[in-house]
Amino acid sequence: DAPVISNFLRGIIDRDLADGKYTRGGLPNVITRFPPEPNGYLHIGHAKSICLNFGLARDYQGRCHLRFDDTNPEKEDQEYVDTIMDSVKWLGFDWNYGEKNGESYSGGSHLYYASNYFDTFYAIAEYLIEAGHAYVDSQSAEDMAANRGDFSKPGVNSPFRDRPAAESLDLFRRMKAGEFADGAHILRAKIDMASPNMNMRDPAIYRIRHAHHHNTGDKWCIYPMYDYAHPLEDAIENITHSICTLEFQDHRPFYDWIIARAAEGGFFKQPVPQQYEFARLNLTYVVTSKRKLRQLVEQNIVSGWDDPRMPTIVGIRRRGYTPEAIQLFCDRIGVSKSDGWIDYSTLEGALRDDLDPKAPRATAVLRPLKLIIDNFPENEAVACTAPIHPHHPELGNREFTISKELWIEQEDFMEEPSKGYFRLFPGNKVRLRYGYVVECTGCDKDENGNVIAVHCNYFADSKSGTEGSANYKVKGNIHWVSVSDSLEVEVRLYDRLFTDANPDAGGKDFMALLNPSSLETIRAFVEPGMVNVEPDTRLQFERHGYFVADRVDSVKGKPVFNRVTTLKDSWGK
Ligand code: ATP
Ligand code: MG
Ligand code: MG
Repeated sequence: DAPVISNFLRGIIDRDLADGKYTRGGLPNVITRFPPEPNGYLHIGHAKSICLNFGLARDYQGRCHLRFDDTNPEKEDQEYVDTIMDSVKWLGFDWNYGEKNGESYSGGSHLYYASNYFDTFYAIAEYLIEAGHAYVDSQSAEDMAANRGDFSKPGVNSPFRDRPAAESLDLFRRMKAGEFADGAHILRAKIDMASPNMNMRDPAIYRIRHAHHHNTGDKWCIYPMYDYAHPLEDAIENITHSICTLEFQDHRPFYDWIIARAAEGGFFKQPVPQQYEFARLNLTYVVTSKRKLRQLVEQNIVSGWDDPRMPTIVGIRRRGYTPEAIQLFCDRIGVSKSDGWIDYSTLEGALRDDLDPKAPRATAVLRPLKLIIDNFPENEAVACTAPIHPHHPELGNREFTISKELWIEQEDFMEEPSKGYFRLFPGNKVRLRYGYVVECTGCDKDENGNVIAVHCNYFADSKSGTEGSANYKVKGNIHWVSVSDSLEVEVRLYDRLFTDANPDAGGKDFMALLNPSSLETIRAFVEPGMVNVEPDTRLQFERHGYFVADRVDSVKGKPVFNRVTTLKDSWGK
C-alpha cells in the first residue's frame, strides 16, 4: 500500500483521537463528507476534495458520506447526481463501505440528500425564532443591503429586528404556507450587526422561492440558505471533521454559532462537527469555473463535458488518466492552508509514474514516411517479437513482421543531418528496433522537393535477438511498422486547452487564450496486434507517450487512440 502522507488535518485527527473527542457509542471516530451540489460535473479540483475526505475515512477506518447538497431548487438535476456518483466510484471510492470491505465497520450505505432534511431545518428555524435567535425581516432588498454596512462601518439594525417572536413565527409560518411573493420577507439569524465579520451581521437563513425542487417537488416555497443548511447537514449526519476550502474560513463563526444554538435547543448532542479549511486546487492551464466550462461546451470549443481536454472527471477519464494517477497526484500535491498554483506537469508526471510500470508497449508511426529496404526479398515477411513490457517478461511478447516496405517517422530521416543526429541519413546505419540494422542509401522526392520515400539496405545477420546482432554497433534505434501488416487508425493528439498558464486569473478573457492546436487528428499506422485492443486500454507507444483506446469512439477491430501525455514534459521548455 502507498505510504500515508501526513498533513495538518491528520495532525488534528490524531489529536482528537488521542483526546477521545469523538468517542461516541456505535459511531466511528472519523466521519467526513464530500458534499457536491448536483448542478454540474465534477472536476479535478473536486477530485482533491474526494481523495482527501474519502482518503481520511479509509485511513482512519471511519467513513465518508457522499452528500448531495441539493437545497437550491433552481439549478439541480438528476443527470448530475448520476454522473457525480459515477465519478466518485471511478476514482476508487465508495460510500457503501459495508458492502465493499466485508468488515462493515461503518455499516452500509452513506449516500445522503440534504433536501431530505428540510423538515429538520424548518423545525430548527422555528426553535430559533422562539428562542429569540432569529426574526423575520420585512425590509426591502435595497434597504437590507444598505443597512448591512461594509468592512469600514457597522450595519444598522433592521426596524423589524425586535418584533415579538410570536409575530416572526406567525410570518414565518405564512411564508411557508405560500402567502407571500418571493422576496417579501426573509428569516434572519439575530447575531450582531456591528460584527467585523460580515457573515455574522444577521445572515439570512431562509428565503421565499416559489420553485419546484427535483426531490421535494412543490412541497416547499421557502428554502434554507447554504450557510444555514450546511452546518446542520453536518450535525445531522454526525460528521466529525467538516473539511472545506479556504473561502469558507470567514463562515466558520456562523457554522459554530448555528450548530451551538441548535444543540442548545436539543437538536444535537456534543461533540458537534468542526469545520477545517484547506487550500483549493488551482491547476495551471486549466479553468474549473462551472460557468466557463459550460461556455466551452455550449460554444462547441470542445465536444462535450467529457471531451478529453476538459478538466472534468469524465473528461480526464476519457483522456486516459487512471484513478490511481489522480490519487497519486492528490497525494503528491498534499493539503495545505495557503493558496498556490500546481503546475499541470505534476498531473502528467503522476500519470507517467503510474503507467510506466504497467502500460503495455506498442509501436505507432504517427507521421508516416515510407522506408524501402532495397535488398530485402520481395513478398517476404520475417517474424519479429518485442516484449509487451520491458520489465515484465512474464507478460510475454507481441508479434509482427518485417518486410521490404515499412513506415517510419518523418523525423527519423534527414537528407542533410544536423549535428548530433544519429538517425537515418545517407551513409548512416541505424537499428530498426526489434528488426535489423539498415544502412541508408538515399531518398525519393516529389516535384516540389519533398521526401516521399527513403531507401536502405539491410544486413541479414543483424537481426535483434540473434548472435550476429552483437557485431553491429549503431547509435540510432528507430521504430517502424510494416506496410503489409500494420493497421491504419485514427489518433487524436491532445494538448493543453489554453496557451496561458492562468487562463482563469482575474480580468483575463479566457476565450482569447485557447490553444489553437489543442487537438490534432491524424491517421497513423500501428502494429497489427492493436486490432484487438479493447476500449479504455492504456498503452505506451514507444518513443511517443501514453495513449488510450477512446472509450466512446473505439471499437474492437477499429480502435481510435487518444494521446494522454507525451513521454517527457516538453511544455514551456
Ligand atoms: P460552485 O460553487 O461553482 O457551484 P463548487 O466547485 O463549490 O462549485 P461544490 O459542488 O459546492 O462545487 O463542491 C463540492 C466540494 O468540492 C466542496 O466541498 C468544495 O470545497 C470542493 N471543491 C470544489 N472545488 C475545489 C477545488 N478546486 N479544490 C478543492 N476542493 C474543491
Ligand atoms: Mg456549488
Ligand atoms: Mg460550492
